[in-house]
Amino acid sequence: MRRRLTWQAARLREVRDETATARTLVFDVPGWPGHLAGQHVDVRLTADDGYTAQRSYSLAAPADGDRIELTVEAVPDGEVSPYLTEVVEPGDQIEIRGPVGGWFVWQPASKAPVVLVGGGSGIVPLMAMIRARRQAGSSVPFRLLYSLRDQDRRYYAPELRQPEPGLDVAYLYTRATPPGAARPAGRITLADLAEGGWPADFEPDCYVCGPTGFVEAAADLLLTLGHPPERIRTERFGPTGD
Ligand SMILES: Cc1cc2nc3c(=O)[nH]c(=O)nc-3n(C[C@H](O)[C@H](O)[C@H](O)COP(=O)(O)OP(=O)(O)OC[C@H]3O[C@@H](n4cnc5c(N)ncnc54)[C@H](O)[C@@H]3O)c2cc1C
Repeated sequence: MRRRLTWQAARLREVRDETATARTLVFDVPGWPGHLAGQHVDVRLTADDGYTAQRSYSLAAPADGDRIELTVEAVPDGEVSPYLTEVVEPGDQIEIRGPVGGWFVWQPASKAPVVLVGGGSGIVPLMAMIRARRQAGSSVPFRLLYSLRDQDRRYYAPELRQPEPGLDVAYLYTRATPPGAARPAGRITLADLAEGGWPADFEPDCYVCGPTGFVEAAADLLLTLGHPPERIRTERFGPTGD
């Protein structure tokens, strides 16, 4: 039976800047039931006059007791994300409900190779999967293709720079490439996925996350490469709310 989700108090413990426009927020949520990498939470903010706004945010790290991490990108003129990235401070309390989602998840016991395809802030639940793999001591091979505008937009850069056996990371820049890069700037292509992913006959599990257009384009390319639809799991970061 489905667990009924209730709102829980979450106190901000720590913040870490990821880029000029994104930051990671670490919350203490007493009684947190735990979660799987790939799941998300709903966040609810309540103004002094009682007005509320709620949005979904992916969990950025695997379960760690009562502690959870989100990484939020500031959407210009957004209602909720600028508050989370610029206003809320350690010690402040918000409300969280979750974990939500049972399909876009990676199970640490899984033995299938994994292709992770992230666009922009779509890296967040994929990073939770990479961290969950590390935490579980899994040797399942992971390949990450991370599409983003330019180097300054990289989330988790120091962590992804650390060599990790069985984890391949490829950055696909869409606007500006670092000096000497072999791949020209541009949107994700069939060649990117053919070179940076796993062949379909390896039967990998594919996880694609990002803005709706990115997810649809990348999922279509994976289908073209022969990956069966049931092996392609997608999460769209379109606008959410109530
Ligand atoms: C399952 C799920 C998980 C998500 N996880 C994350 C996450 O880990 N990190 C993260 O930063 N965001 C995530 N999002 C997106 C997030 O829920 C909000 O949509 C986003 O933060 C914008 O909210 P806002 O209130 O600031 O903007 P709004 O006030 O809702 O919108 C302001 C303007 O921006 C546009 N807009 C809204 N959302 C987006 C968007 N995502 N991209 C581009 N334009 C947008 C709106 O159409 C509107 O024009 C997730 C969404 C879903 C559905």
